[in-house]
This record gives sequence, structure tokens and C-alpha cells, in this order.
Amino acid sequence: MSYITDTIKYLKQSSPAQAEFYQATEEVLNSLKPLLDRNPKYQKHNIIQRIVEPERQILFRVSWVDDRGQVQVNKGYRVEFNSALGPYKGGLRFHPNVTAGTIKFLGFEQIFKNALTGLAIGGAKGGSNFDPKGKSDNEIMRFCQSFMTELYRHIGPTIDVPAGDIGVGGREIGYLYGQYKRLTGRYEGVLTGKGLNWGGSLVRTEATGYGAVYFAQNMLAERGDSLAGKTCAVSGSGNVSIYTIEKLYQIGATPVTVSDSNGMIYDERGIDLELLKRLKEVERTRLSRYVEEHRGAVYTPVEDYPPGRNGVWGVPCDAAFPSATQNEVNEDDARELLKNGCICISEGANMPSSQGAIDAFLAAGIAYGPAKAANAGGVSTSQLEMSQNASMIQWTFEEVDARLQRIMAGIFHTASETAKEFGAPGNLVLGANVAGFRKVADAMIDQGVV
Ligand code: NDP
Repeated sequence: MSYITDTIKYLKQSSPAQAEFYQATEEVLNSLKPLLDRNPKYQKHNIIQRIVEPERQILFRVSWVDDRGQVQVNKGYRVEFNSALGPYKGGLRFHPNVTAGTIKFLGFEQIFKNALTGLAIGGAKGGSNFDPKGKSDNEIMRFCQSFMTELYRHIGPTIDVPAGDIGVGGREIGYLYGQYKRLTGRYEGVLTGKGLNWGGSLVRTEATGYGAVYFAQNMLAERGDSLAGKTCAVSGSGNVSIYTIEKLYQIGATPVTVSDSNGMIYDERGIDLELLKRLKEVERTRLSRYVEEHRGAVYTPVEDYPPGRNGVWGVPCDAAFPSATQNEVNEDDARELLKNGCICISEGANMPSSQGAIDAFLAAGIAYGPAKAANAGGVSTSQLEMSQNASMIQWTFEEVDARLQRIMAGIFHTASETAKEFGAPGNLVLGANVAGFRKVADAMIDQGVV
């Protein structure tokens, strides 16, 4: 369809060198063809060209002083992509690989993910190429304060509400919030993922990982199956991975792998969750330390992975939960997972699978939950945090968890029913993209050319 190919071509010319952003847009736009064929109004209102262009992009300098007294400089970003459904909402990522293209791909995905939740939130993303690894607490604090000194003028509880992502957890949200409060004098729900005794929501820490497991349960239940008794491969060892593992144990599955950017652990008896939490949440150390306390487990450094492959996906499993980063499952990894009998993929990370991997999962007809549906539990619970802040009350763990479960079931239902409506039952990529897009596009049409 030339409207889509022309838009992608224009995007590549007007926003050069943003490969991850093109990957995300091509995946969404190419699955919209059946919707656009049936509804000429989207082309009439030029929705596709408008939706791939962020409403606002803020790029700023972040200067800070390290512990040796030397001045450091990083890039800061906030891309406010789409506000048709509500205030901008999406996390902040601090990682050395972050570029404008990374933030744009994440922000673009966020639009449709947030629409799928059924909650009133627009799409945004932000971050920096700052590397938190090896930095002292004081350095992290000074960086966060400098970052917020620019960001604060662009955000607000009904304007734009950032949260965490890679490299941004409870500690960073605390420092960012403190600086926002100092600059504005306001105590308000401008960030989510806050500490429990100063405005945070129960279950927010667990939400993305728990949600990815709930999504997998929904996919398998429709096929008359469940996760109980299943062996699971999980990548990453951060927030999403840890709480994916916790929920997998609670429902009777066995997670056997974790990874970080240096290597992976395979623990046949099941990952030791308490040890993992201590290593990653308390000591903030490398995963290689795991085998010092668990001699039966195997540590494989990245250099020893098969060439061009991610070692985690070579471990035989029934279900896989990619929970580290983008493009961590390529087509060969996908074929290996399928060969070893994997029947379910639920994506905790954003865009973890390459297009070749997605095509292989869809062709095999396994239960495949794309990120914008499967990992929406995090942003959903962030919105529940906003609701609690606005009404100045705090719900119990059980209440938030029950709402999270209902939201994940709702997202699955929406994606699954939309896939059926367009003649592709089981194709949750098409279902999630079409359902998310339709909701945002209809709101954009209602709100006129803005
Ligand atoms: P964390 O920073 O807590 O953990 C990230 C994990 O992924 C770490 O184990 C990290 O290893 C690993 N990792 C990061 N980059 C790479 C890389 N290039 N290669 C290999 N491993 C890597 O982040 P989160 O757990 O919060 O986020 C993980 C994923 O989930 C991201 O894609 C994020 O966008 C997505 N997500 C997160 C949500 C949330 O609520 N936190 C919500 C929705 C999606 P190392 O320490 O060595 O860098």
C-alpha cells in the first residue's frame, strides 16, 4: 500500500539514522493494511503521517560533576509523542546506547501500548546516554538533579508523567522527584514508581513482570493450557526479569535462566530468587557472582555464546520471557526456541524480537504476546498510581493486583478479538497494533487537525 510505503520512505529521509525507530514503525504500519483498506477515513485525515511524527521532542544538555570533581556532559531526551488519549506517559531510560532513535522507537510503541490498556494516557519516552554502572550514589543523585533541572518545565501531573525504564528504578525516581519538588514547590504525582511511603503504589515494582506472566496465562488458557509445571527461560536480571521470575514461581512454573549484558546463568533446579534480588537490587553487582554461591549453576559469558546468538534462547524451555532489551531475539534464536519445543513467548522487554523472529513465531502458530500488549502491566499500574495520587488514597496490594490482572486480561481479549475481526485469529501482533492504533486514530480525528 503506497500510503504506508511512502510514509516509511519519508520517515527515513526526514529522520535519518534511526534504525530502531524505523523497525518499530514498519512493524506497526505494515500490520494496519486490513484496517486502512476497510476505513478510508484514516488516509483522508492523513493519520499515518501525523502519528509517526512526535508532537514535541525535547533535547537538552545534562552537565554534572563526578566524584573526582570533573565536569561530565550527557544528552537528555523527552519525546512527547501523542496526547490524543491523555497526558503523555512513558518511562525514562539511562543507558550508554540511548540515542534519539531509541527514545523515538520506545515513545512510538508507548502510544499503542497505552491505548491498549483502556486507560486515559498518551505516549512518551525519555532518557539519557548516561551510564549508571559503576557510579556512586552521589553521582547518580547529581546526575538526576541536573536532568530534572531541565525536564521539570516540560512535565506535570496532567501534562506529562515520566516513570522508570532501564537504568531508572526506585533510587533514581526518588532523586528526580526530590529535585522536581525543590524547583516547583509542589508535592504532586508528576512521576510514577515513587517510594511506597511518599506516594508510590503497591505492585508498581512488580507490575511489568507480573503482567507479562498474567498475559502468558491468558494466551495459554485460550489454548486449554497453563504455565503450571512449565520450564521457562527468562533474559535480563533487572526489574522486569526479577518479578517475572517471582510470579512464575507463585504459579508453579520453573524459571531456569537469567542474563545481563556480560553473560547468562543456567540453573537447572530453578533460579534462586532471593539470591538474585540480593545481587541485583541490594549489591547492584554482576550476575557472574551467582555461581560463587550456587556451584550447580552454570555461568556462560557473552563471548562464549554461539556466534550471532543469545545463549539464553538455546536452553530448552516451554515458555520464554525476553525481559532485557530490544532485538535480543533474532530469527535464529527464534528457530532454536521453536525447535526445542517452546510454545509461548511473552515479551517483558520492549521490541525484544527482530522482525524475522516475529515472523517465525507467527508462522509456527505458537502463543506469541508482543511487547506492547504483554508488558503493558507496568504503565497500567503507573496509571493506577496516578489515580491514587489524584484521590489521595492508597489501595491495598490485593486491590492493585486484582486491577492489574483485569487489565492484562482485557488487553489480551482486545488483541485477540481484533485479530479475529480481521481474519487472523491468534495473531496478537495484528490484533494489538490495529486495536491500539484505531483508538488513538479515532481520537485524533475527533480532536481535529492539531
Ligand atoms: P533494568 O535496568 O532493571 O534491567 C535491565 C536488564 O537488562 C539488566 O539485566 C541489563 O543488564 C539487561 N540489559 C540491558 N541492556 C542490555 C543489552 N544491551 N544487552 C544485554 N542485556 C542488557 O530494566 P528493566 O527491567 O526495567 O527493563 C527491561 C526491559 O523491559 C526494557 O526493554 C524496558 O524498556 C522494558 N520495560 C520495562 C518496564 C518497567 O516497568 N521497568 C515497563 C515496560 C517495559 P546490565 O545490568 O548488564 O545492563
